[in-house]
Amino acid sequence: MTADSNNKKVVIIGAGPAGLTAAVELCRRSVPTLVAEKDKLVGGIARTEQYKGYYFDIGGHRFFTKIGEVEVFWREMLGTEFITRPRISRIYYKGRFFDYPLKAMNALRNLGVFTSSAVVMSYIYSTMFPHKKEDTFEEWVTNRFGNKLYLIFFKTYTEKVWGIPCSEIRAEWAAQRIKGLSLPIAVRNAIFGKFRFGGGGGVVKTLIEEFQYPRLGPGMMWNACRDYVNKGGGSVELETDVVEIRHDGRRVRSAVFENLQNHARTEQTGTDFISSMPVAELIHKLRPAPPAEVLRAASGLAYRDFITVVLIIRKENLFHDNWIYIHSPGVKVGRVQNFKNWSIEMVADPKTTSLGLEYFCNEGDGVWGMPDADLIELGKREMEQIGLLRAADVFDGTVVRQKKAYPIYNSTYGGYLNTLQSYLLQFENLQTIGRNGLHKYNNQDHSMLTAMLAVRNVLGEKHDVWNVNTERSYHEEIRVSKGGAEKA
Ligand SMILES: Cc1cc2nc3c(=O)[nH]c(=O)nc-3n(C[C@H](O)[C@H](O)[C@H](O)COP(=O)(O)OP(=O)(O)OC[C@H]3O[C@@H](n4cnc5c(N)ncnc54)[C@H](O)[C@@H]3O)c2cc1C
Repeated sequence: MTADSNNKKVVIIGAGPAGLTAAVELCRRSVPTLVAEKDKLVGGIARTEQYKGYYFDIGGHRFFTKIGEVEVFWREMLGTEFITRPRISRIYYKGRFFDYPLKAMNALRNLGVFTSSAVVMSYIYSTMFPHKKEDTFEEWVTNRFGNKLYLIFFKTYTEKVWGIPCSEIRAEWAAQRIKGLSLPIAVRNAIFGKFRFGGGGGVVKTLIEEFQYPRLGPGMMWNACRDYVNKGGGSVELETDVVEIRHDGRRVRSAVFENLQNHARTEQTGTDFISSMPVAELIHKLRPAPPAEVLRAASGLAYRDFITVVLIIRKENLFHDNWIYIHSPGVKVGRVQNFKNWSIEMVADPKTTSLGLEYFCNEGDGVWGMPDADLIELGKREMEQIGLLRAADVFDGTVVRQKKAYPIYNSTYGGYLNTLQSYLLQFENLQTIGRNGLHKYNNQDHSMLTAMLAVRNVLGEKHDVWNVNTERSYHEEIRVSKGGAEKA
């Protein structure tokens, strides 16, 4: 125990990647740690669910990072449980499957000479007459790729994921994800290698063409962290909702835990508090309540929700991809994961295949509210329409809903987030971390890094957690082609 860790007791909200990383790091330094998690499972959005022996992620979670300490953490926690998988993915658009990363001949064949020429002409036009302002995703991408390519590979998929027109998505998001890319670089890559909307080689190339995956899904990592904390003197309490955070305006004094089984409430004091719950929810749980303008800002933040429809199919080999992006606007599904191609151990019976159909939606909208059985029927119909399976071969299925899967970068979020950040910085012993804790489009590794820095702050160092993840080139390369959704 270091001098700084004496007399500390840290309360952590959320046992997703960020919360559990903070807990492990604190346990390693012998700091008493208590984690509250409202779900039955640990892992947050990166958890692994199970249905009749079939394992599946919320999306599909690749493990890749350029952050050394995160890589070391993963190795220490799971060691030999990682498998290396080749990345195989395609884009489905207008009835055709494009290899992704794109390959020159395949793309030319699918687009045809006429459309390919139109892509080049449209790019030349946009270099001659670029948008003067680059405030929106649409302006930013069109200036670098031309309008034609934007319409084919960016617009439809991005709008499915975000649920708002690309003209309303802030350019910051594109700049964070697609930095340094343009059509000439993409063409060069498509001719001399694979077109992945970006350059790069070496480590980056490897990260794109193969990835690490725990043999039973990402939940394996987060279960290992939970066990480490529980054995290391900390405690992870499941089905425990943090319903209030009590403070005196300068310091947080306690958090009120509600056991979701029996609704008993307990007040937990601590010297430091680290929250990975959505920042908007945290604000509404502070007692006394923050000023009205802060509450308004919290209510103004927007999110995109997410449904996984799992279909189990009587077929040994359906297709070889890990996942397929569905750009076509004619179907609602946005992406299809083939979990067996992530790890054979994800299926209960190797003679079967399980697919995860991803529907991006908003809590309360038509898709979100559909009964599970109807969602499964929709999934079967759409998969047959695309030609990926015969509905008659599907013999079972299940549905999992995930609220607040994506923090939305719309035209108002920046102002609101600044208001929340300034307000929260007045607390000496409260830090927010992770993806929704900071309202930042972070993957596991950046969510974890914010947690590691927060722990060092508890121990007396000074790090700016809000500024983690501004330029990560390898992410952009992976993400852009599907129009910007989270890959995986
Ligand atoms: C479709 C999709 C695909 C993805 N693919 C990848 C990928 O391939 N690779 C990758 O690295 N990342 C990927 N990500 C991102 C990854 O899921 C996140 O970065 C990561 O889960 C964020 O971790 P977190 O701990 O910050 O937040 P979360 O995972 O959201 O965890 C927060 C936790 O806090 C809990 N909580 C909330 N409120 C309370 C409360 N009041 N009381 C107690 N507990 C509470 C929640 O239940 C949750 O468990 C993907 C995300 C999505 C949506």
